[in-house]
Amino acid sequence: MLLRRIAAALVAVLAIGGFQAVTAAPAAAAPRTLYYDASQAQEFKSVVDQGAQIWNSRVTNVRLLPVPAGSTPNIRVYADNGWPRAQTTSLGNGRWYMGRQAVNQGYYQPRIAAHEFGHLLGLPDRRTGLCTDLMSGSSAPVSCTNAYPSATEASTVNRNFATTASVPAGTFIWS
Ligand SMILES: [Zn+2]
Repeated sequence: MLLRRIAAALVAVLAIGGFQAVTAAPAAAAPRTLYYDASQAQEFKSVVDQGAQIWNSRVTNVRLLPVPAGSTPNIRVYADNGWPRAQTTSLGNGRWYMGRQAVNQGYYQPRIAAHEFGHLLGLPDRRTGLCTDLMSGSSAPVSCTNAYPSATEASTVNRNFATTASVPAGTFIWS
C-alpha cells in the first residue's frame, strides 16, 4: 500500500514536471548576430557580403552582419592563392579564405563564399556531388551556380543557433 502511494506520488510529480517543462519552453529567441570582417578579402569583399546575405535570406536564428568600426568580429575573411578553406574555433567563430585556386578554376564565387560561411555556421563538408547542396562544395560540377543552402542545410543551421549547440573546432578545405 505504501509502495502504491509512493508510486502514485511519483507519477504525480512526473506529471507536474512534464507539464512545467512544456509551459516553461522559452519563446523564440532573438537571432544571434555574428559580425564578419571582410576588410582583408581584397577583390572579394562584395562577394563576401553576398555570401552573408544569402544566409540571412534563408535562416532566422542567426544574422551575419559587417562588423561595426571598433568592434571585434566573430569571423575574419581573407583572400589568397590557395584553396578556399575555413578554420573554426567554435560555432560562429573563426576565419575563412576566398582561395583563388578555386576561383581560377571557374567555381562560382558566391557559392564559395556562402559555402565557407556555412562552415562557420556549423556545417561540415558533405561531398554529395549535388549542386543543390551548398556544402557539397567542389564535389559538384564547376559549372554549378547554386549559392543557396538546401532546406536541410538551412534547418540544420537554424537548429545549431536555436540553442548554443556545441560544435567542435575544425578545418575544412574546398578540395
Ligand atoms: Zn568546405
